[in-house]
Amino acid sequence: MDLGLKGKTALVAASSRGLGRAVADELAREGANLVICARTVAPLEEAGRAIHDETGVEVVAVPTDLSKPADVARLMETAESDFGKIDVLITNTGGPPPGPFESHSVEAWSTAVEQNLNSVLNLTRAVLPGMKKAGWGRIINITSVAVKQPIDGLILSNAVRAAVTGFAKTLANEVAADGITVNNVMPGFTKTERLDSLAANISETQGITVEEAFDRWKSQSPMGRIGEPTEFAALVTFLASERASYITGTSIPVDGGFIQALL
Ligand code: NAD
Repeated sequence: MDLGLKGKTALVAASSRGLGRAVADELAREGANLVICARTVAPLEEAGRAIHDETGVEVVAVPTDLSKPADVARLMETAESDFGKIDVLITNTGGPPPGPFESHSVEAWSTAVEQNLNSVLNLTRAVLPGMKKAGWGRIINITSVAVKQPIDGLILSNAVRAAVTGFAKTLANEVAADGITVNNVMPGFTKTERLDSLAANISETQGITVEEAFDRWKSQSPMGRIGEPTEFAALVTFLASERASYITGTSIPVDGGFIQALL
């Protein structure tokens, strides 16, 4: 299947490692040029080099703290001056810290909103005019299965990702006639550093081993295993493609069957 991504430009947020990196790798393999970002320069530049060496696509790596609007503005300026416009936007950033409601300060809630909601709004605001002018665009938000089945101990994530989902569904309707699709992909438990750190936190707070924490997650999936970032990236890449032109306003899980609901 030709996905029609060759020569398109994709901005993949938070892409030095984990799910964002896997998506960047896959889009590049399909021939899309990339703008990638993360906070720390060395791993970001290393990711950019590795992707370019493997695929030959153009990769611009811009150090960015997605919770800082000024950084996001600089990221977009660089993207525009290097590529002119962004065809595909993948919003993504680090997950908020775990812990029950009473463990989080007012500031922790503000940070989660800044990082996991406002960064989506700021990135989207910046790419929309170009997509509208081109009459084509793909916006894909990396959210979480927590949107459909909240995960105990992740109250910040459960709450803020629901806001992203409401935003995306409404935006999808607003821009559908402009040839722009807006979708969310909901990862289930997928093998990244985020999951390693959540397992370490569960081990510390619940007195079980890290391995037992992983076993608990595995047992919640009918497949009995944790997902691979490449399995997640495959769906995101399809949604980013020309071939996904009639899919918009939806949230799709990549979770090995974790979500128990019918729809
Ligand atoms: P990860 O921790 O492995 O990678 C996160 C990436 O985000 C890194 O590249 C990091 O440098 C970057 N980052 C973090 N904060 C940033 C900031 N303020 N500005 C710029 N870059 C920043 O995490 P992951 O597993 O790839 O998760 C990606 C997203 O998906 C997170 O929001 C996570 O909560 C969510 N998620 C992950 C899973 C999973 O099982 N891995 C499940 C559900 C949801």
